[in-house]
Amino acid sequence: MAILTGKVALVTGASSGIGEATAKLFAHEGACVVVSARRSAELERVVAEIASAGGEAVAVAGDVADEALHQTLVVTAVERFGGLDIALNNAGAIGLNEPTPDIALERWRATIETNLTGAFLGAKHQIPAMIARGGGSLIFVSTFVGHTVGMPGMAAYAAAKAGVVGLSKVIAAEWSAKGVRCNALLPGGTDTPAGREFATSPEIIAFVEGMHAMKRMAAPEEIARAALFLASDASSFMTGAAMLVDGGVSINKT
Ligand code: NAP
Repeated sequence: MAILTGKVALVTGASSGIGEATAKLFAHEGACVVVSARRSAELERVVAEIASAGGEAVAVAGDVADEALHQTLVVTAVERFGGLDIALNNAGAIGLNEPTPDIALERWRATIETNLTGAFLGAKHQIPAMIARGGGSLIFVSTFVGHTVGMPGMAAYAAAKAGVVGLSKVIAAEWSAKGVRCNALLPGGTDTPAGREFATSPEIIAFVEGMHAMKRMAAPEEIARAALFLASDASSFMTGAAMLVDGGVSINKT
């Protein structure tokens, strides 16, 4: 039997990359999935592809910095599919790449809003729905950037993603005894539209690949499988963890 049969999952940032791959894998494993991002047409494509593969999904478009979106996502999960068991708070963006003294406050705030405040707002509305269901698995997508490697030009992104790790540990301490596990997933460089936005030349691609002990970036599907582990009962004794899935960036010195 598929390992998420009977489960309801919510995935933000599901219009491309890691979120799209994970929404499709969750659906393949039997979950009903609520997918979200700003681009409706891309979301509808993902929903149609899930449906044509025999799965079930519904799209709700919006910006993760908007609290009303998160209310709607949870209400959709409950009204369409009966509750919420799994949430992958994955929506994120690197933002502008510039040295710390050059970062304008509004650009700092925009990056924090998308990557950290959006994750907090998601959790705020997802936790009560999971408690009502008797428990669940809450996952935040963080990154190796700022965790094991300080990358120049990424101050706001690194700060936001480190914030997500702290947030996940506090939520784990607050809610694990009531059945809501909470973990952070820290991918290495992944071949997605965001990854390609950063790796803009053969030299940068070679540099990023070289940071990994495996000397390559991940496919989004490889990160999706790690998300499936955290979402499923395969990780039933895991909470408050920051799980690196980084192709060995953290141990690579060459
Ligand atoms: P991606 O393909 O660009 O996906 C990012 C997703 O987030 C898209 O679906 C995008 O959809 C959504 N999104 C961005 N800003 C949003 C906003 N304000 N409101 C709602 N949705 C928003 O990139 P990805 O690499 O899969 O990134 C997924 C997550 O993995 C991110 O949190 C990223 O920081 C993290 N990550 C990526 C890498 C990497 O190397 N690729 C490594 C470590 C961690 P719309 O544009 O349609 O809104």
